[in-house]
Amino acid sequence: MTDVQQILQILAKDFPNAKSELVFNSPYELLVAVILSAQCTDKRVNQVTPALFAVAPTPDKMAKLELSEIEKLIHSCGFYHSKATYLKEMSQDILDRFNGQVPDNLSDLQSLKGVGRKTANVVYAFAFGGQAIAVDTHVFRVSNRLGIATAKNVLDTEKQLMAAIPPDMWADSHHYILLHGRYVCKSQHPNCRECSVKELCRYYKEHNNDGKI
Ligand code: SF4
Repeated sequence: MTDVQQILQILAKDFPNAKSELVFNSPYELLVAVILSAQCTDKRVNQVTPALFAVAPTPDKMAKLELSEIEKLIHSCGFYHSKATYLKEMSQDILDRFNGQVPDNLSDLQSLKGVGRKTANVVYAFAFGGQAIAVDTHVFRVSNRLGIATAKNVLDTEKQLMAAIPPDMWADSHHYILLHGRYVCKSQHPNCRECSVKELCRYYKEHNNDGKI
């Protein structure tokens, strides 16, 4: 078994119920929630989306809202002007090109206005059951610390993870690595002492001192 497979097997035990912490009831709601989650916690997004989805649960309803109305509803998520613009443009694009239905394939999702690669991958994987590895800040940091990727950007990290992980494990692997980053391998203070995969971690081997250089 490769190091990557061992790491994923251990993390699968650490997070047996791994799934998105965002609350959503449709592919469109997940798309909106992921756009709002940039530079924001899932907890905050989950506080904001009930009121937003009460007035705009569909692309049609969102596209009809004034930008200022969307901004007011999502204000506490931060970057509210940009995010409101993305939500309105993405919704109008879905109406114009996909008859109001969120597309269920990766290339169309990635082509939507205001939708980045990571967002498209998340929706493809967790709204439609596809296999993709969404590389967010946690997945990028943890993968490169562990040494299961050695990349300077998220796209190369995604490619390296896809090469190292069997395709039927891509979506689950995203959750395992993300949750490990959120709760153990934190950005500023990785909890190497308590880490279940430290014996397989490149960063730990290099520092071998509970995360201190
Ligand atoms: S040993 Fe430390 S750096 Fe490596 S994955 Fe665990 S917490 Fe992160």
